[in-house]
This record gives sequence, structure tokens and C-alpha cells, in this order.
Amino acid sequence: MSVVDRQEWDVVVVGAGGAGLRAAVEARERGARTAVICKSLFGKAHTVMAEGGIAAAMGNANSGDNWQVHFRDTMRGGKFLNQWRMAELHAQEAPQRVWELETWGALFDRTKDGRISQRNFGGHEYPRLAHVGDRTGLELIRTLQQKIVSLQQQDFRESGDYESHLKVFQECTVTRVLKEDGQVSGVFGYERETGRFFVLEAPSVVIATGGIGKSFKVTSNSWEYTGDGHALALLAGAPLLNMEFVQFHPTGMVWPPSVKGILVTESVRGDGGVLRNSEGKRFMFDYVPDVFKDKYAVTEEEGDRWYDDPDHNRRPPELLPRDEVARAINAEVKEGRGSPHGGVFLDVSTRMPAEAIQRRLPSMYHQFKELADVDITAEPMEVGPTCHYVMGGIAVDSDTAAARGVPGLYAAGEVAGGMHGSNRLGGNSLSDLLVFGRRAGWHAAEYAAGRAPGARPRVDDAQVDAAAAEALRPFSAEAGAPEPSDGPPENPYTLHQELQQTMNDLVGIIRREPEMKRALEKLGELRARARRAGVEGHRQFNPGWHLALDLRNMLLVSECVARAALERTESRGGHTREDHPSMDRRWRPANLLCSLTDPTGVLAAADPESGQITLERTATEAVRPDLLALFEKDELVKYLAEEELS
Ligand code: FAD
Repeated sequence: MSVVDRQEWDVVVVGAGGAGLRAAVEARERGARTAVICKSLFGKAHTVMAEGGIAAAMGNANSGDNWQVHFRDTMRGGKFLNQWRMAELHAQEAPQRVWELETWGALFDRTKDGRISQRNFGGHEYPRLAHVGDRTGLELIRTLQQKIVSLQQQDFRESGDYESHLKVFQECTVTRVLKEDGQVSGVFGYERETGRFFVLEAPSVVIATGGIGKSFKVTSNSWEYTGDGHALALLAGAPLLNMEFVQFHPTGMVWPPSVKGILVTESVRGDGGVLRNSEGKRFMFDYVPDVFKDKYAVTEEEGDRWYDDPDHNRRPPELLPRDEVARAINAEVKEGRGSPHGGVFLDVSTRMPAEAIQRRLPSMYHQFKELADVDITAEPMEVGPTCHYVMGGIAVDSDTAAARGVPGLYAAGEVAGGMHGSNRLGGNSLSDLLVFGRRAGWHAAEYAAGRAPGARPRVDDAQVDAAAAEALRPFSAEAGAPEPSDGPPENPYTLHQELQQTMNDLVGIIRREPEMKRALEKLGELRARARRAGVEGHRQFNPGWHLALDLRNMLLVSECVARAALERTESRGGHTREDHPSMDRRWRPANLLCSLTDPTGVLAAADPESGQITLERTATEAVRPDLLALFEKDELVKYLAEEELS
């Protein structure tokens, strides 16, 4: 039996971004002894990078805003594939979650009369994003960390131990969710610094590990986004929902090559920035799709007037949802009207005084000055699409965040599916983290409380041994590596690069059937080679080893994306098929669920040829009539299938 450190907790939260920390605060406040595990340093989650703001219908900038309008915008943005109950809860609860952050010490930018300021973003009918300059995620994480520390101080006063009820395990990676009799019993992981294995036993596990962007070559995502939580859920037997929907943000940096993909926040357009092609034309006016025709300005003059008088003018098409803008930029570049480095121009310099740009967009100013030697107060930026967010994710219950099919497993944040349908609106992620992080923590704590310590699922030693052997495979043949005759050892970095190139080129922003089939073949080949991924050295801080383990997750998740994308023969939101260019109402009531074909199988055992993922088509839940009544019938006709309309 493997010797590993073991501890017992009520709730284990995997991930310390906005969703994980909010879940942990809630679970601890409801009395659960809660452990938080994160791959990176505490405080360095992806959420820190969030720039533009948190969407919440507080009505501070326009009193016409309310949760019903926010719900409507979110459903429109997601092209009606959203799990509607999640969209409803999100719109209703987001303002409360933002105000709550202020009571915990967050300081948002203010309006002149002292209320929380709200800015415009694509797809939101009213200015709705509460923000702190363009560093909102930093303030969100800072506040949640501060809250955690204050809870720990409270625990110290009562128990003499800061970590008696809430402990953070930083720089630790979870590689397996453990189960007994189909129920969660804990997690297995390793410390990145020492390489030591550990087990945290708990009846409730909340997965809050964020996204999958590191499977694509051009991405705004950081190194942590290797789809770990998606893979952990799959391996534990929980299905993933609608993985074909990957968001390509329209504006990433395109130059210099070393920074390609880094995000240029949507706030630039929200604050008045415009997109132009190489001919100087504001081309977005040519790309307003029929479903949005009556909501967007038809002339530059009207679009410009909207910033000062939104009640009597329509918004400029630069503020269409992200999927529309990304496709338009892609089309302009393809038609030969791109910028010198293969993007288009985003100009704020002719729209705002230099002082206002530096005040409202300080990070963007520094980012371009330092990384590209471009002064955005005097010249346009060059931008193009970058892989940014995954709408697909763990299938969850809307109210409780419970993962489907695995009692004790919960998911919140970017790793969970359903909330954003086929396309997420900007700002709706940070609010999602807070709303559903809280709900996941709440229900995970309740579930744990219902299981007395003596009656909890026990950790199965055989599973711990198997998890340890799986983690050690890259080091030695004895630990289960394939025979040398299978081929030479493979370098995990080479495999990762090939995977990223494959996903970028063959399952990227515009998709075609033959290319996706080629991608699936290539993924099969990479899977076979990944069995031979070998590393040298020892377990103390060995990044090659860490990557070799992450490859299992990226390969699983990439196969889900490619299979689901091939199956869905329409274009909707973040999924664009050149061979099926329109949204097809017949696909509206369809969800695609991905499961592991052989739930006991791991990478080593999987047949490289046949793949590891099985797809199932299930029906979406009909939208509640009172929510449907928030839309005009004419609009619903564009989205809903025939049988749903009747
Ligand atoms: P994260 O914040 O990424 O946290 C994931 C956590 O899981 C990390 O602590 C990580 O270490 C941990 N983890 C991962 N795998 C493991 C493992 N195997 N074991 C242990 N721990 C693990 N959204 C908005 O709403 N508004 C914005 O303005 C905005 N701006 C953005 C700007 C940028 C540049 C980017 C990239 C995204 C932006 N987003 C924005 C999106 C938003 O930031 C993310 O969707 C959101 O922060 C995800 O939060 P999360 O809590 O789900 O995950």
C-alpha cells in the first residue's frame, strides 16, 4: 500500500479562484470543516486576471436595469442553450453577491453620487459591470482571501488553531477524485514542491478548477488551465455538458509573437473603442446578424450618440456578443483586410483623451506599452481572436451545483457547464463564480452534515495505490509504463505543443467536418504517444512531470470538444461550422453529454484507436413560461424549435 499523508475534512474545494474561495467561505460559514487545494500560489488564480468587471443588474447607471433584463441578455447571448434556471438564479442573485463583497472590504469604482459604477459590455442592454478600473478580478480575489483570513482568525480565537476549520493547501495538484460505492470519499493529489502524495478524505468535494484554454495554441489563459477539473469529473463518472462551446474572445494581442493571445479587455470597446480594418472602415456595421438587427445602430453617428444617450439610440455593433465580433474579425482578415500582423485595428486613441484612457484602462495602457511598444493613447492596437473561455463543463443541478451522477461531487465557476449556453457574455463569469460558488459551498456543506463521521464513505486503499501508480508512470517502467518496444519515450512538451497546434488548427474558431475528423485521429495518435511520456529527475518541483500528468486531462477534454463539435451540425454561439453556417432551431432542444466510455479505464488502458469518450444527446429542459413571457414572440420564433413554440 502506498504511504501517503491523510487528513479528514467535511468539504474539500479543489481550486482557489473566485468560485473555489466563495464556496469555501460558504461551507465554513455553514459549519463545515473545509479544505481548499490549489495548484498555484494562494491568490494567483485565473480570476486575478479578470479585467472588465462583474455583471450585476444593480441599476446604478440606468434605472431601467433589473434581473429580468439581465436574464434576457444572458439567454440571448447564449442563444437560448443556457440552463435557464441557472441564468435566472444568476441574474437574481448577482447584485446581492456584489454588495456582499463590499461588506467584506472590496472597493469598487463609484459614480459621481457615490454608488457602485457600472460600465458597458457587449450583449448587456444597460451599463452593468461593477469594476475596479480594469483590475476587477484582483480586487475580487483580494477580498475573498481577506475574508478567509478573517474566518481563520475567528477560528483561532475559538480553537487556538487558525486552520482548524479552514485550511488552504497551496501548490498542490489533485489528480483523482476517490469514491466508495459510487459516492465521493475524498481526493488524491501531490505537492508540487516536494512531489509527496496526499489524500484528503471528505464526503463532499467541490470542483472549481476553471477552464481548458491551454489545449489551444493561441489563448488568453494561464498555465493552470489544463482542464483538470473537467477530467477529474469525467474520471469519477460525471458527464460533461456541451463541450463544443469554446469562446474565442475577439480581441487578443496578435503581436509580438511571444505575447500572442494575451487578452485585450472588452472594456476598451465598452468605453468607446472602435474596430477598423486596413481600409479604415468600421466593419462591424456589416456583420449584425438578423437576430440582433433591431437592437444595434445602423450608422456610426447613431452608435456614437448611444454612449451619451442610450435611451434614444441603439448601441454600436462593436458591442455585439463576443462570438459575433470574433467571427467578423476572422472574416475581415481572411478577406485580406487585416492589419500587418494578421489582426484588425482597435482604436481608442481617437475616442477618448489620453488622460481618460490611462485612468480607465491602466492595465491595457501598460500591457501595450511594455509588451508591444505601442502607446494606446496615440495609436491603435492590433487585435485578433484568442481562445478565452469554455462554456461547456460539468453537468450540474442548477440550484445545488451537484454534479450529475456522483453523490458528493459539486462544481462551480468556469468548470461547470450550463449557465452560459453556447456563448458567455463578458462580466457574467465573475458573477457566476460568486452566485454558484456560494451555492456549491452551501450544498456541499449540507450534504456533508447529513453524513455522520462514522458513516461516511471510506477511502479505498486500492484506489490510492492505483492513483499513485498512475502519477508515477512517467518516471519508470516498473510503475506501469508500457514496454520500450511500444516506441521511444516521448517528451511531454512536444506532445503538448502538437496538441495545442491540433486544437488551434482543426477545432478552432471556424470548424469543418474533415478537419475535426483529422483532429480526432491526431488525438488518438497523441494519446498513444502520451502513454510513453517520460520524464527524468526526481519528484521535487519537476515541471516536466507535472505537464506529463496534465496531458491526460488535456487529451480527455480535447476529445470531448472535438467529438461534440463534430456532432453538432449547426453554428451557435462559440461553435461555428463552415459546413453548417446557420443556427438550426432543431438543435435548440439538444444537449450533448460526454462520458468516459470505460469509467474504469485510464489513459494507459484506453485503446488509442477508438477514443475514450461516448456522446449522448439529451433534451434540454423547457423554459418556464413566465420567463419565456419576458421575450417578444417574434424573437422566440428565431430561437425555439417548432414543438417548443406550440
Ligand atoms: P480560476 O480562477 O481559474 O481558479 C481555478 C483554481 O483551480 C486555481 O486556484 C487553480 O490553481 C486551481 N486548480 C486547477 N487545477 C487544479 C488541480 N488539478 N488541483 C488543484 N487545484 C487546481 N470574466 C468576467 O466575468 N469579467 C472579466 O472582466 C473577465 N476578464 C478576464 C480576463 C482574462 C485575461 C481572462 C483570462 C479571463 C477573464 N474573465 C472575465 C473570465 C474569468 O476570469 C474566469 O472565467 C474566472 O476567473 C474563472 O474562475 P474560476 O474560479 O472558475 O477558476
